[in-house]
Parts: sequence; C-alpha cells; structure tokens
Amino acid sequence: MLKIKNIQTYYGNIQALKGISIEVSQGEIITLIGANGAGKTTTLMSISGVTAPRHGEIIFMGRPIQRMSPDEIVAMGICQVPEGRHIFPYLTVSENLDMGAFLRNDKSGIKKDMEHIFDLFPILANRRNQQGGTLSGGEQQMLAISRALMARPRLLLLDEPSLGLAPLIIRQIFEIIKKINEEENTTIFLVEQNANLALKVAHRGYVMENGKITLADSAKNLLSNQEVRKAYLGI
Ligand code: ATP
Repeated sequence: MLKIKNIQTYYGNIQALKGISIEVSQGEIITLIGANGAGKTTTLMSISGVTAPRHGEIIFMGRPIQRMSPDEIVAMGICQVPEGRHIFPYLTVSENLDMGAFLRNDKSGIKKDMEHIFDLFPILANRRNQQGGTLSGGEQQMLAISRALMARPRLLLLDEPSLGLAPLIIRQIFEIIKKINEEENTTIFLVEQNANLALKVAHRGYVMENGKITLADSAKNLLSNQEVRKAYLGI
C-alpha cells in the first residue's frame, strides 16, 4: 500500500532523515519507535506532504506522492493525527467531527459515520455539544482520532497518541487503535515512544535512530530483541 524508498528530508541544512525505507501493507498496523529527535515525526510529515523529502520516493497505492501537496495527499486517503492533537478548542465535538469530513459531500454518509464514531467512542457521544477545548486530554485524543476517521482514510498516521495521558487512558486508546484496524479495516502507521504498548498492538515495527532505520522485524521479534528491550523497553 505504502512504499517509502530511501527518503532524505531536511530542515534547511539539517538532515533529519538520512535515507529511510519503510513498507506498509494493506490492513497492517506498523509502528515506528525511537528516542526523542530520532526523526519519527519527520517521517510522518514527509508522508503527509507537510515536509516533503528532498530525495527518494513515496509510493501510495501505486502512485508517487512525494511531490503532492498535503491536501492532495489527504484526498488520496492518507490522514494524520498530529502530536499534541490540535483539535479546534472553540468548536463542539460534533463540529470538530464535521471538520474532519470537509473533503466529502455525501451528507447522509457523513451523518452515518458520525453516529458510528459515537458508537465507537460513547464518551464523545455524551459530549457532542461540548467545546473541544474543555475535554480531558484522553477525550481530546479520541476526538482527534475520530476527526481523522471522518475523512474515511485508507491509511491513518498516528503521532504519539499516548503522549501526556494516564496509563489507563493510554490502554483505552490502544484498544481503540486495534479496533479501528480490525473492524474498520484501516491501515495504521503508529509513531510512539511507548515502545512496549506500540509493539503489543502492531504487526511489525521499525526502530529509528538518528534519522536512520536500524531494525525492522515483526513486533513479536522486536519485543524479545535484547537491544530493543534494553534501549526502548527499559528491561
Ligand atoms: P520526538 O519524539 O521528540 O518528537 P522525533 O523522533 O519525532 O522526536 P523529529 O521531530 O522528527 O524527531 O526530529 C528529527 C530531527 O529534526 C531532530 O534533530 C529535530 O531537532 C530536527 N527538527 C525537527 N523539526 C525541525 C524544524 N522545524 N526545524 C529544524 N529542525 C527540526
């Protein structure tokens, strides 16, 4: 579904990605783990077109997308939930969800999807008329994921969904990620610092250090890999 081929991405003269390659198949959850500053967010930004790579190729559903604009990439079916969530604080939960569907014009489909989201996240249903900014951190993360789902993505990019949340809420979010993958048939590219949980929910994983991929394997193998256990799982 997605083939990232040897991309190099820069911020001015600083090279953040030093030639990385990643493949994602339809239906998978893949996770990219690594320390602060390794280049995980830059990888997502390169895919979504916000920070286009200077070299290399990104092929999605058979088409090169590395020169497309972010909105063209969204229209192709790639949707990103950014780190820090960035929901609209003064819009209600329902209005935030409507914003996620801005590229669609099938009114009845949008309404149906919104009801489906409320089944998936009952807490959001209870708060549908509440302003986004007044939700708890966990609820805002649920809203950010839901808003992305309203675009009916083929590929969902999640940047640090666990960031700043309590352990119980993190577990709920990861359960939902699994459900979205299994029941909604959405392919997921998950960037996480919580390597333990990410590898438990993912099928495969990539480890990133200093702008390079240093390991790629099944999530199961990475969980039992001695280097990964020492560096990222604190074992
Ligand atoms: P974190 O988990 O802390 O978000 P990360 O693995 O997502 O880390 P990136 O945010 O992709 O890492 O950063 C990769 C490198 O690029 C870092 O050295 C960072 O300082 C640098 N970088 C990121 N954004 C910019 C920017 N806007 N301008 C200059 N350098 C940047």
